[in-house]
Amino acid sequence: MVFRITERQYTIIMKQAQSCYPQESGGILGGRENTILGVLPIANKVVQDRTEVFGLSAEDIERAYHFLTKNDLHYLGVYHSHPRGIPVPSPQDLAHHQKYLFIVGLQDRYNPELYAWRVENGKVFAEDIKIISDVGITVVDIVTGKPKLSQSAPPIYLDRLAQMIDDFIAGVEPQYHRYNPVNWDASTFSTFA
Ligand SMILES: [Zn+2]
Repeated sequence: MVFRITERQYTIIMKQAQSCYPQESGGILGGRENTILGVLPIANKVVQDRTEVFGLSAEDIERAYHFLTKNDLHYLGVYHSHPRGIPVPSPQDLAHHQKYLFIVGLQDRYNPELYAWRVENGKVFAEDIKIISDVGITVVDIVTGKPKLSQSAPPIYLDRLAQMIDDFIAGVEPQYHRYNPVNWDASTFSTFA
């Protein structure tokens, strides 16, 4: 699995993480298939030490659900930052039984990076993330920042993707079918460390 994220969404996440530093920040990611098209930043609701934990309330999760259905996006996962620690899931992160965990590594505050992790049977696997241009749909290598044209998807896929992104940016109200509520326990306060 290779996740794709538009420059615009990527920038939202990075700016949020950098401006909240040294506190943890985070939010919800929505998309279609493996493309991240919606970012919902959420204020850290932890009362005590926000540099160690990111928390979101049941109301946040409900708001996220409406955000996703309104924009016809699937729930992809929660993202949160690790201002000091290494950008791998903590035991507390893994306790949420999320399929994917997105973590912003801020070891270098001025060069943050987004990491995607897939969790299977308690084991953690790294997934690739590629940044795509909002307009040209050029695939950019997240490490080198250089376009990777050889890995571009076929034209038909790119056309479809471009249309999806255009619609989303234009705020087109899509016809959506109801998805199951995000598949985790939204009944309580949730924290990621
Ligand atoms: Zn964490």
